Amino acid sequence: MLKKELNIFTFEDLLNHFPLRHLDRTRVQLIGQITPGMDMVQVKGVLLNMEILGERRSRRLVAHLRDATGVIELTWFQGINWVQKSLAVGQQYLAFGKLGFFLGKPQITHPEMESVQDAAAAVKSHLEPVYPVTEKLKARGLNGRAMAKLTQQLFLVIEPKDLPENLPPSILTSERLVSRWQAYQFIHFPLQADNYQQAVNRLKFEELFIAQLRLWMLRSARHRYSRGIVFAKVGDAFNTFFHEHLPFELTGAQKRVLKEIRQDMGSGRQMNRLLQGDVGSGKTIVALMAMLIAIDNCAQSCIMAPTEILARQHFDQFSKLLEPMGIKVGILTGSTKSAARKEVLAGLAEGSLSIIVGTHALIEDAVRFKQLGLAVIDEQHKFGVAQRARLWEKSTIPPHMLVMTATPIPRTLAMTAYGDLDYSVIDELPPGRTPVLTVHRLDDARPQVMDFIRSEISLGRQVYFIFPLIEESEKLQYEDLMKGYDNVKAWFPEPQYWISMVHGRMTAEQKDINMQRFVNKDTQIMVSTTVIEVGVNVPNASVMVIESAEKFGLSQLHQLRGRVGRGSEKSYCILLSGSQVGKDAKDRLSVMCSTTDGFKIAEKDLELRGPGDISGTRQSGALNFRLANIAEDRHILELARAYAEKILELDHGLELPTHQPLKSFLQIGRAKGEWSKIS
Ligand code: ADP
Ligand code: MG
Repeated sequence: MLKKELNIFTFEDLLNHFPLRHLDRTRVQLIGQITPGMDMVQVKGVLLNMEILGERRSRRLVAHLRDATGVIELTWFQGINWVQKSLAVGQQYLAFGKLGFFLGKPQITHPEMESVQDAAAAVKSHLEPVYPVTEKLKARGLNGRAMAKLTQQLFLVIEPKDLPENLPPSILTSERLVSRWQAYQFIHFPLQADNYQQAVNRLKFEELFIAQLRLWMLRSARHRYSRGIVFAKVGDAFNTFFHEHLPFELTGAQKRVLKEIRQDMGSGRQMNRLLQGDVGSGKTIVALMAMLIAIDNCAQSCIMAPTEILARQHFDQFSKLLEPMGIKVGILTGSTKSAARKEVLAGLAEGSLSIIVGTHALIEDAVRFKQLGLAVIDEQHKFGVAQRARLWEKSTIPPHMLVMTATPIPRTLAMTAYGDLDYSVIDELPPGRTPVLTVHRLDDARPQVMDFIRSEISLGRQVYFIFPLIEESEKLQYEDLMKGYDNVKAWFPEPQYWISMVHGRMTAEQKDINMQRFVNKDTQIMVSTTVIEVGVNVPNASVMVIESAEKFGLSQLHQLRGRVGRGSEKSYCILLSGSQVGKDAKDRLSVMCSTTDGFKIAEKDLELRGPGDISGTRQSGALNFRLANIAEDRHILELARAYAEKILELDHGLELPTHQPLKSFLQIGRAKGEWSKIS
């Protein structure tokens, strides 16, 4: 039963089944001093009388308890017969429950009653834990109370050595943490509220510290053992491009990140770097230049994008930039025709093609490289770990990996989810960008919005209309989109205006054609679903209208908005919604209107949704802790990380005597000891 309902298999699991809260039954309240502000009260007195009142639904058992200072009413609506039988008038009882007031008189409904004659019912010396249990368990009589008894009994048979300390003494001292044994006792049975807090702090720290330690060990092991292709030099390809063909001056952040990448790739170990940069921060050019270093070292590189549109765009951009240098770029997607595909595959296999852009099609078995030296993954959150791993296998020595994401991840989240990767941030936008002005408008302001759009179009600008189509296959939403399209068309009729549309039900080719018409300015308006979300770059588009904006998550809104504000024109993002918007949605919209800083938005997202849902996380499992919550416990996380780093720097194999307990704890995983299983 415990197994199935709560996943409790062992004593250890039971110890880790933490109480939801505690009841303070260490004090007895004098009845005469009860005031309406009190919540849970415990009183002690003599049971004066009991009687059943009312009929049917209002049938209840009413009793009165008296102490030296006053009388309180006790009421039961359920289990009346049983309660009546178990209590005796004239006896002393402790009554505990939630305080209510009726006609100015204090009362407790369904109090827990304990006879004072009963030795165990004496006033508690510790706070009483309330455990989470399921309805099924309750029905079987195993309520939170009974769980407390089980746990209490467990503490009678175990000793401090069963919960040995795993943290080094120096940390315990400097952070004033209670011992592990103490923490487990206090989290279940604190003497007072302080103790509970101490226990929680200690256990949260332990949890985060152990997780960080594992990540750092993984990372440093990789650094020490992973052999990588050495890109020893920066040569002609890179330098010629840098000096003669780079269309703009790199930002300081771009230069810094390129340097980090260069160092990694020249070090002799495999690079595994996460590159984060807000939308529009210019990650693509960094990837391109890293690829040029690969060329200088006679290696091939690939860049994998999540959509055809994006792959196509990278391909166009790379081809244009590299053409003057005589470097050929290939493209491989699901819709590449077989003749072209054959040519590309041959070029990769014999090494004549040194840069390939593509989608998932790149990881297919048929794709063989002569010497793959660098694999770039764009917008990584659209890919799984397994897909990434398949790129590794395309070379005997694993290629350097550069993983790029525009989903800003709060530092704390990145530390936990990607702690084993090296990490670079482009935290600076190219110069000359004016922040996108964002406003929230209700549907009934549509005419004004459309007027505004007309005036923008007359200035030569282009406009996106985005509709929420989350599950592209759903027929209903598809019809909504079509309705939306017709609606836009009604406001902007041909031949004065031309509209292109892109959605997930189109073939890649159709998408491409429509996208291309927009890029070429043949159409002024793009109606789209979120397929446009990632990476697309049309600098002349200066207005984005997001329909039913309340249906989108924060990071998605931010991604979408990133499609505008890419040129030098003043850009706008208009969030349309109905008038009935929930509180959370309203919060999201107001965050969007108040900032364009992706990191701030990500922090806010983390706050609003909790870590489990954040897109861009690699494995949400890595973010689920028993006690710690990375949104709230940022401070502890930073601390834990700093200690983990310090310890491993000093003693990477955890060989020092003071680190032995820690080492063995990590080795057993979760200390199972020789505890038997509960069945
Ligand atoms: P993202 O980081 O979102 O992938 P992109 O790489 O698509 O951003 O870059 C966005 C736009 O900014 C592109 O048009 C690119 O050419 C331009 N850009 C990139 N770096 C710079 C720079 N240092 N100065 C000016 N424009 C730049
Ligand atoms: Mg991009």
